[in-house]
Parts: sequence; structure tokens; C-alpha cells
Amino acid sequence: MTTLLMSLIAAALLVMAALYWRQIQDEENNDVREEDGRVTPLLRGVNYLLSDEPDLALQEMVQVARLKSEAADVYMALGEMFRAKGEIGRAVRIHQNILARPDVPKTLHLQAHLALGKDFQTGGLLDRALRQYEKALMIESSHVEALEASLRIREQSREWVEAEELLSRLEQIQGDSLHLHRAYLFAEMADSYFPKDIEKAQACARRALELDVLCAHAHIVLIRIYLQQNDFSQAEKALQEMQEKAAEHLHLLVAAIMGNQKFYQRYGENMLMEYWYAVKDEELALSWLEAVAAKEGTNVVNALKQKLNFSASTLRGSLRLAGIESDVKTPLSEHAIKWRKKMTHFVCGECGVKVIELRWQCPQCHAWGTMHAIREEYI
Ligand SMILES: [Zn+2]
Repeated sequence: MTTLLMSLIAAALLVMAALYWRQIQDEENNDVREEDGRVTPLLRGVNYLLSDEPDLALQEMVQVARLKSEAADVYMALGEMFRAKGEIGRAVRIHQNILARPDVPKTLHLQAHLALGKDFQTGGLLDRALRQYEKALMIESSHVEALEASLRIREQSREWVEAEELLSRLEQIQGDSLHLHRAYLFAEMADSYFPKDIEKAQACARRALELDVLCAHAHIVLIRIYLQQNDFSQAEKALQEMQEKAAEHLHLLVAAIMGNQKFYQRYGENMLMEYWYAVKDEELALSWLEAVAAKEGTNVVNALKQKLNFSASTLRGSLRLAGIESDVKTPLSEHAIKWRKKMTHFVCGECGVKVIELRWQCPQCHAWGTMHAIREEYI
């Protein structure tokens, strides 16, 4: 522990001790000796902290907390400081000490469970964090912070059924509609069942679209299911619906559409072509050209490029095209290929974070369905 940290904690404790002392003085003076007894260990704790002996300081702090429950606030604040500085073990010990005491009120137990949950979560011990949040929810079943923290862990652990159950509870408590969020959880469930359990995958994708037809991920999973089943009429219908409701993500399906050769020849190519001429989405054309390059080589790329009458209008587009279409390796095409592999391709509409691979949940702000392919930087 650095000296700076020790001084900061000691300073904070001194302020808290002063406030606590004032509070005691405001109370009736019928038992001054007992009040003295509460403050002395606090000051001793500060001394130990200044001498770089935090464990002894903790022992003293426990005495303060045992004497009167208000002092536990001081103790909780100390735990927060340890966690903030990455001293997770010490934060855990503080919060466990509070929970070991039967004499503190339930609300403090609730706070201690929440704090302990945060300690474990910060330390990456997600199962143990979850158990603490569950205990907090046993004290207060509608505690929003505990529900949200549990939801975040379930999402992080890709436990979609449990996540959806928590989200339903939050929706009931908060009263606002979290339909799009729930739709994305059902889409994740659908994706996790595909292709092993098509029936469940299909049911979840449909449920997602019932909840919110703007859920692009559910459209994509459903179309993949139809393509895998060679159900061309349903695939065509689902593609049309996606064009109406979630067209900006159509480019993500190009490779899957081309993967079913029959569908591509009969419907897919024409549908994509019509859509391209209707909206001229450069992202779609480039994804298409990239998929063709990966599957069939440069000659076919050039033929498709002519069919699309495509020329890149952005710097990003030009670089991607240089990586796709050149037969002969030039310094530019080699740089373009390297750049393509590590280019940030998606941006979150909520927080602005940029990532290489698409995620339906933003890794930074945790919002769902907010990542978009970057379509800017026009020349
Ligand atoms: Zn974000």
C-alpha cells in the first residue's frame, strides 16, 4: 500500500471520526464514558493505518462497529475505499465482519451483502458475487441495484434464461418497457440453441420478434434457420421483413445467404441486388464483395462489382476494396489487408465505443442493439 493511499484513508477517517464525535456530542450526555469508548478505537485504527498496519487498524474498526451500529457507516466507507484501490481482500474482510454481527439492523446487512457482491464482482469472482446479490434480494426482493448487478453478471456469463427472468422482474418494478432488451436476450437464447436444437431456436427467435420487431439479431437467427432447413419461401419472407425493420444489419447475412447456393441463385442474389439499387448501402456491397472474394476469387469479384456498378465513396470503402480486388499484391493492397483485419468496424450509438467484431450488447455501456457498422468518412 502506498503512503499516499494510507494518508488519504487516514485523512478520510479523521474527518469521519470528527463528524462521529460531533454526532455523539449532540446526543444526550448521560453516558460520556461509553461514548469515549466508541471513539478511542477509531483513533487507534487511524494510528495503525498511519503506521502501515491496516490489519490491526481493521481490528480496531471492528470494535467501533460492535459498539454502535452508526459507526458501521464509517466501516462501510473504509471498505469502499479499499475496493476502489483494488485491495479486494481487505474490502471483503470488512464487509464479512459486518455480516458476522447479529446486532446490526437488516438494512445494514443488505448494504453489506451489496458491498460484498461488488467486492467479488470487482475481483472477478462472479458466482460468489451473485450469491451475495441473491442474499440482498432475500432481504428486499425488489432492490433495483441488486437486480441490475445480477443481470449484468448473468449477461456476462451468457446465462440468458436467468438474465431474462431478472429483466422481467426489473420491468415489473420499474414499470417501463424493456421489450427491446428482452428481445435481444431471447435472440441470444435462439442463437445458443442454433443449430443443435432448431425447434427451440426458432421458438426463441419468434418470441424475440413478438417482443420487438426491431431486434436485428432475432431476424438474422430466424433467416439462418430457414436457410438451413431449405425453407425458401419462409426465408424470403423473413428477409423482406428484415429489410423493412432492421435493414442496416442486412450486410451481416450476405455470407449466410451465399452459403445456401440454391437459395442464392433462385432468390438471394436478386433480392440483394434489388436492395442494393434501392438504397446503395456501401456496407452491403463491400460485405458482398468480400464474401465473393473469400468463396470464389478475384474474377468473380470484378464481375459482381460491374453488376453492382460499384465504386467506393469513402476512404474506408476504398481501402477495403483495395484489399479485396487486387490480383497483384501492391504495397497498398497489402497494407489494406492488414488494416482490414484490425479495423474497428462497429460503433456504439449510445457511448461511442468502437470495436472490431459486432456484439449485440455494447461492451462498454452494456446497452443492447446499439452497435452499428461505421458508415462515415465520405470522401
Ligand atoms: Zn455503448
